[in-house]
Amino acid sequence: MARISARIAAITESATLAVDAKAKALKAAGRPVIGFGAGEPDFPTPSYVVDAAIAAASQVANHRYTPTPGLPELREAIVAKTKRDSGYEITADQVLVTNGGKQSVYQSFAAILDPGDEVLLPAPYWTSYPECIKLAGGNPVEVFADEKQDYLVTVAQLEAALTERTKVLLFCSPSNPTGAVYTPEQVLEIAKWADSKNLWIITDEIYEHLLFDGAMAPSIPVIYPPIADRTIILNGVAKTYAMTGWRVGWMIGPKDVIKAATNHQSHLSSNVANISQRAALAAVAGTLDVVNEMLAAFDRRRKLIVAALNDIPGIYCPMPKGAFYVYPSVKGVLGKEIDGNRPTTSSELAALILEKVEVAVVPGEAFGPSGYLRLSYATSDQDIVEGIARIKDLLSKAK
Ligand code: GLU
Repeated sequence: MARISARIAAITESATLAVDAKAKALKAAGRPVIGFGAGEPDFPTPSYVVDAAIAAASQVANHRYTPTPGLPELREAIVAKTKRDSGYEITADQVLVTNGGKQSVYQSFAAILDPGDEVLLPAPYWTSYPECIKLAGGNPVEVFADEKQDYLVTVAQLEAALTERTKVLLFCSPSNPTGAVYTPEQVLEIAKWADSKNLWIITDEIYEHLLFDGAMAPSIPVIYPPIADRTIILNGVAKTYAMTGWRVGWMIGPKDVIKAATNHQSHLSSNVANISQRAALAAVAGTLDVVNEMLAAFDRRRKLIVAALNDIPGIYCPMPKGAFYVYPSVKGVLGKEIDGNRPTTSSELAALILEKVEVAVVPGEAFGPSGYLRLSYATSDQDIVEGIARIKDLLSKAK
């Protein structure tokens, strides 16, 4: 008998977290590494949020369990926040607070997939989606949109991938890893199509506030209410309030799905840490001032990094309209000799960049086909200038 179960042996380590851990370890060892790995705002969590957590830590009530689906006050605050930010009207029993957005990804798939059910997965996709689908017994079906179509899949492509086993469409706009944002017309078209095929939609709204150039990210059940009963929304405080380490996310869905997912969570992790929930309550019930401040910095960095990358021969980087990632194609560099090496995949190129110039990037293989790199620009302007200059120095040796 195998020591590791087939189910767990089939999944890979999270490449985003692996790159981040490697960069942080090298830095801790004194290496001048510049990290564009994990998507983590470089801003501190707002002080009023931290203060709420400090106050909560000294109250004995917060040393105890909360109800599995979350503090009633937090679920109500999420109801109010959802109406404020997307216009979607829900009730508290449609909210389950999870240990970060990532746990809500897994629990959503676990709640609605049976073995063999297929999930349409627009690619490039966030690295954890296919693994969560597989863990839940489903089969991810990749639908790839390249840089020529701005990384946005069309209904025709989705239709071509549809089978009688298709149950769910995963949707993420603004997208991790590409930063691509669907127009409201495209979102409506996709939602209508999914509804006509009786599909569910799991829509990841974690980057809802990180939009540039007037781009919009309408919420699926708001733009097309008929599909609300088969829609699950994923969200959390990590990206909006610079709270990646606090691990507070949530899922919003029909009551029967939320009840089923809550039952699952009651055996999996119980409630999210009480103190983190109190911090999230302060964040969600407060203003969006903090994200607006971060947005101004992200917008500046977005333009800086796209211009610098497009200045490197062999690299093509579309201008993203959301999130804080850029997703350049490096196909023009692959196969060339660089400093005595000849990387033929983006994975080999990313390893070479880390080894030779100590810059951490995530290879496209973590998100779909080879030929791309993902860089998070939620880091300082100075690191962006220096990091891309180092990559340019290295790649200018390509012949
Ligand atoms: N979601 C972020 C990223 O894609 C954080 C790391 C992770 O959980 O994957 O980099």
